[in-house]
Amino acid sequence: MVADTAIWRDQLTPAEVAQLGRGAGVIPLSKPDILVVGGGIAGVATAAACHEAGLGSVLLIEAGRLGAGATGGAAGLLTPEPHEWSDPQPFVDLARASLDRWSLLDQSVPGGVGLVELDWIGLAPDPGGFAPHLQPSVEWLDPADVASLVPGLARPMAGALIRHQARVNPLRSLARLAAGLPAVATGIAAVSVTVRGERIASVSTTSGAIQPGAVVFATGLPPLLDGLAIDLPASQVKGHLLATEPTALRLPGTVAPVATQLEDGRLLVGGTFDTGDETPQVRPEVIDSILAGLYAALPAVRGLKAAYQWCCFRPRHPDGRPVIDRVPGLANAWLTSGHYRTGILMAPITAQVLCHWIGAGQPPAEADAWSSARFGDRRPA
Ligand SMILES: Cc1cc2nc3c(=O)[nH]c(=O)nc-3n(C[C@H](O)[C@H](O)[C@H](O)COP(=O)(O)OP(=O)(O)OC[C@H]3O[C@@H](n4cnc5c(N)ncnc54)[C@H](O)[C@@H]3O)c2cc1C
Repeated sequence: MVADTAIWRDQLTPAEVAQLGRGAGVIPLSKPDILVVGGGIAGVATAAACHEAGLGSVLLIEAGRLGAGATGGAAGLLTPEPHEWSDPQPFVDLARASLDRWSLLDQSVPGGVGLVELDWIGLAPDPGGFAPHLQPSVEWLDPADVASLVPGLARPMAGALIRHQARVNPLRSLARLAAGLPAVATGIAAVSVTVRGERIASVSTTSGAIQPGAVVFATGLPPLLDGLAIDLPASQVKGHLLATEPTALRLPGTVAPVATQLEDGRLLVGGTFDTGDETPQVRPEVIDSILAGLYAALPAVRGLKAAYQWCCFRPRHPDGRPVIDRVPGLANAWLTSGHYRTGILMAPITAQVLCHWIGAGQPPAEADAWSSARFGDRRPA
């Protein structure tokens, strides 16, 4: 629960807060067609997609509250385009398709999922700061353009503007998606599985056994359950974030790497990459360094205080990319893990890939790049 002090929960309505703790300690369905283990954004989006697709009865279980893991502490940015500079094409394609799906969800889910469209401006201290490779969505800004869009910068900088990106309050999106699910149980952890032949016959939980037709593990890191032979290399990378008091300064959406402005004028700043720090506590010195970076970039907000400060852990595979796959050796179990820095962005398309695969029995084309086989077959002989 390291993200408990994040700003997101305070922005929710009481009905949305109630959704996050739905079905506490009670399994409403012991023989679901599909059991989803893990109530972060990947699990909730997958359960919602399977339910919408009419794949039968869907039960979601979560060890804590919905959003108790990385999801509850994420910045919530849905910005696929800048990944063109840093990631391979299949990743960028998946990210773009996922932002499209976020827009569809915002239209189809009652009340929407809280999608906020924003412009992304990346600051480059020197003109060579961005690779020469240009996607059509980028508008180049000279220092005068940047200065007119981002008032109060410490020094003139060129930049890149990308329109039509987005962000969400990740807990609001979770709550809105979960509201459409008939069967959600929180405070229930999967503990072990019983495998018969090539199928999971039963999942033992802290509140009794479940006999599912199919299982999706969306546990952030790969699931560690007795009886389940999954051995994927993975680790966690801690990150700190803060939200300031409201400020009168107006930023256009996200100004990377400085800040993102929220609805009420607060600035969302971070997150850090605190490699090697496994402690769940917020470190005041990291918060101070985030604030120092903000003041150095934007002297106009010097003295603005952090009203919220929190940290959480990004689940990561060694290549920094997710796994979206059938569990090796099993016919009725799937997993998604290691969404690292972009799990909120990638959730709807991940859900779609898994839902198609479960429904059709065949992997969709997008799944190829995200197989766990890229780490070799590490199952015990
Ligand atoms: C500082 C920071 C900033 C970030 N910013 C962004 C961003 O701007 N945009 C973006 O797209 N991504 C961002 N991320 C990444 C994003 O938070 C993660 O990639 C995403 O939340 C992963 O979602 P998930 O559902 O896979 O995992 P999680 O949110 O960790 O959910 C997994 C859930 O499974 C549950 N669980 C685990 N084991 C069991 C079990 N045995 N039984 C039952 N339940 C179980 C856990 O309790 C947990 O709730 C950020 C992350 C951090 C740390």
